[in-house]
Amino acid sequence: MMSGPCSIESETQLRTIAKTVKQSGAHILRGGAYKPRTSPYAFQGLKEEGLKILRKIGDEFDLLVVTEIPSADLLPLFEEYVDIIQVGARNMQNFNLMKALGKSTKPILLKRGLSATIEEWLMSAEYIMSGGNEQVIMCERGIRTFEKYTRNTLDISSVLAIKELSHLPIIVDPSHAAGRWSMIEKLSLAGLAVGADGLIVEIHHEPEHALSDGAQSLKPKKYLQMVDRLKELSDLLGKDFR
Ligand code: PEP
Ligand code: MN
Repeated sequence: MMSGPCSIESETQLRTIAKTVKQSGAHILRGGAYKPRTSPYAFQGLKEEGLKILRKIGDEFDLLVVTEIPSADLLPLFEEYVDIIQVGARNMQNFNLMKALGKSTKPILLKRGLSATIEEWLMSAEYIMSGGNEQVIMCERGIRTFEKYTRNTLDISSVLAIKELSHLPIIVDPSHAAGRWSMIEKLSLAGLAVGADGLIVEIHHEPEHALSDGAQSLKPKKYLQMVDRLKELSDLLGKDFR
């Protein structure tokens, strides 16, 4: 389980949320420092300051940290501060970045592109692995379809496809798939049921004031309730919830 806010907004904000992450029994804290927003006028993240806050709070709570890298030139900074490097959906086919990550010592969380086929997504993983870094985790985060009710369409079958076609672990991101907090618990359960190796979920103590993705962020109480359900299902499936 990876959980935390969409964006790191301040040290106080991240500490507040990290308490809940720790309480849930999760081991990995997420939080965006460099935010690839659709509009250039939207909050772009705290950048390097955000990375420092993430590292500090991760260490404070003994949590691993995962965050998105926007471009290859920032790799040295990410090597210093981050445990798992996330590739955002919009960057999945940035092949210069994929090649650079092939030289990284860190595991890479590779999100599926907005309109990427499974083959294209696996080819991006190949770019990283052929460079020498075989620590790739795939992440299904919903794809763009004609449907507008949800932000994207969670392609639950891609979990099965990745399992059939590769040896790579795959996790599900129900938050960016649905775009609605009310759907996160059920989609997370579905992800686990279909065989996903993990989940990445956005949470926030005050989603109505979040600087990004508040509508899809779970409040602490709901998140902790969801984790109880996920633990029950993990037990049934004979999996270890961490
Ligand atoms: C995120 O994880 O906050 C994010 C921007 O995700 P995606 O790249 O899947 O849109
Ligand atoms: Mn987000």
